[in-house]
Amino acid sequence: MTFECDRCARCCRHHVVPVTREDVLRLATHTGLEPHAFVELCSASDVDIDGEPESLADVPEGLRLAVLARREGACIFLGSETDGRRGCTVHSARPRSCRAYPFDRPSEHGSVVGLHPEALGPPEAGQLRVLQDPSERLHWAEVVRQRDVELHDHAAWLATWNRRQRLRRLLGKRRLPSAEFVRKLGMPRTTEGVHASSGIGSDDAAHGVDVAPAEQVDVHE
Ligand code: SF4
Repeated sequence: MTFECDRCARCCRHHVVPVTREDVLRLATHTGLEPHAFVELCSASDVDIDGEPESLADVPEGLRLAVLARREGACIFLGSETDGRRGCTVHSARPRSCRAYPFDRPSEHGSVVGLHPEALGPPEAGQLRVLQDPSERLHWAEVVRQRDVELHDHAAWLATWNRRQRLRRLLGKRRLPSAEFVRKLGMPRTTEGVHASSGIGSDDAAHGVDVAPAEQVDVHE
């Protein structure tokens, strides 16, 4: 199958959109906005992602998922209505999960691409048609693969962040706040200053946080 978007914007209203670090960086660069202007943190129970603990960040409020902020029951980047329809205002920089939607990893052996499990409630269902052209299937498979590459990188970065928070707890230090997590989401890798093995940021000192020598040591789990 393939999907022809008719700009009904149901998916932009119906789904909460998780974002990776790459998504946030792309959107911040594209819009000129700070991440806190368009990123929210929600609990796992709010978005029903029990099976994806690697997506959650350890912040003082608990484990949280970074998602696109919502306004008036829709994604914050859903534009105002023109010609009776609403469109994405950040189309060229939209998150990978929006690009791949409604496709997902294949659920059947031998398929190259599958469908998002919650995709295509009315009226989207009318927009599906059979993927006749193998190159079309491969195209969507590649879009899903690129999304998964970024998800994998994001999970690795989150693991470092979470390890760093656990270490701070062990050392009796306060955990870094949610605002710091969101700020770091939008930072280019080259300027972030996170120690690759320990997950301890060299920018801690700049934020008034003492970095004891013991924190330079990695925590093995
Ligand atoms: S970023 Fe764009 S495509 Fe994605 S949910 Fe928001 S408005 Fe829709």
